[in-house]
Amino acid sequence: MLVTKPNRDADFSCLASACPDTCCAGWEIVVDDVSADRFRAMEDAMGKRLQQSLITVDGETQLKRHPDGRCVLLNDRNLCDLYALYGEGALCRTCRLHPRFVADYGARREVMPRLSCPAWIETYLLDTEKVTFVTEETDDPIAYTDIDAALFFKLSRARTQAMDMLQDRSLSIDERMRRLLTLAQELDGEREEDCSQGDILPAYRKKLASLEILTPQWREHLQQKGGTPFPEKELSPLLEKVLVYDVFRFFLRGVYDGRALPWVKYAVFHALVLRDLSRHCACKTELCEVIRLYSKEIEHNAENQEALHRALCRRSGRWSVAGLLKAINE
Ligand code: SF4
Repeated sequence: MLVTKPNRDADFSCLASACPDTCCAGWEIVVDDVSADRFRAMEDAMGKRLQQSLITVDGETQLKRHPDGRCVLLNDRNLCDLYALYGEGALCRTCRLHPRFVADYGARREVMPRLSCPAWIETYLLDTEKVTFVTEETDDPIAYTDIDAALFFKLSRARTQAMDMLQDRSLSIDERMRRLLTLAQELDGEREEDCSQGDILPAYRKKLASLEILTPQWREHLQQKGGTPFPEKELSPLLEKVLVYDVFRFFLRGVYDGRALPWVKYAVFHALVLRDLSRHCACKTELCEVIRLYSKEIEHNAENQEALHRALCRRSGRWSVAGLLKAINE
């Protein structure tokens, strides 16, 4: 299998007990069938504990969580007892992969740690170099997915062009977002013009507040009003990184319905929300925390992500390309 990762992936290292958050709390931990069978076959004390920790929710096997959302295997030093005893290889697939997302397209796999992880924020977001990607051949079994190969290669070429454009620092970040939207419109052969039904800014707050919210900090950010613009010189490099991240992560999903544009709008919307929320941030560290929370609240929650994508599939009103262009120009 050909696996593509950002070049900085090799520098990524979990902060373990020094992490200010943890990826083992706040969301469901789905256990794959192979790992669940392995846990059920373990005969030692850890095996018994694991067997008592498995539950079935909507047909899925999951690890139980405490009422505060923490996985029952997480100890009070924020370390996983299963990992501590038997190492990474003993974890289920979800925990082995975290905090990385994995996207399979036929014989190709794409991997990248998520922006919800403080260690990746340090490694990726604060790196001033442009993002490059490396592709390696691995022994991983190929996960065959039913995709249109011609469309996949067309989208891959367009994505490379999009990522080069997003990292063209001779252009303002606003101009790069405009060009990105145009590129996707031309690719999909769609025109979206009407934006007479209201603005995305500040209506996005109501939309995001209507989704499931995991952390009180995120709710507080959505409720803040006013603020002063964050210095452009510091904001643009961060938005560039977020846009590249989203384009890498989502652009190729267009292979499933032939539409890359809604995912490009999703990336631009993300950048616009961050630009607006940056008004309440006193420094880069605070802004990075907002970026991290957005990932945790939206990217990690399939229903939230789906709701946002659905809104951005609309071709008119504030969610149209014209609505986003209007917000970019504000
Ligand atoms: S969020 Fe990142 S740094 Fe924190 S425990 Fe998870 S992988 Fe490690």
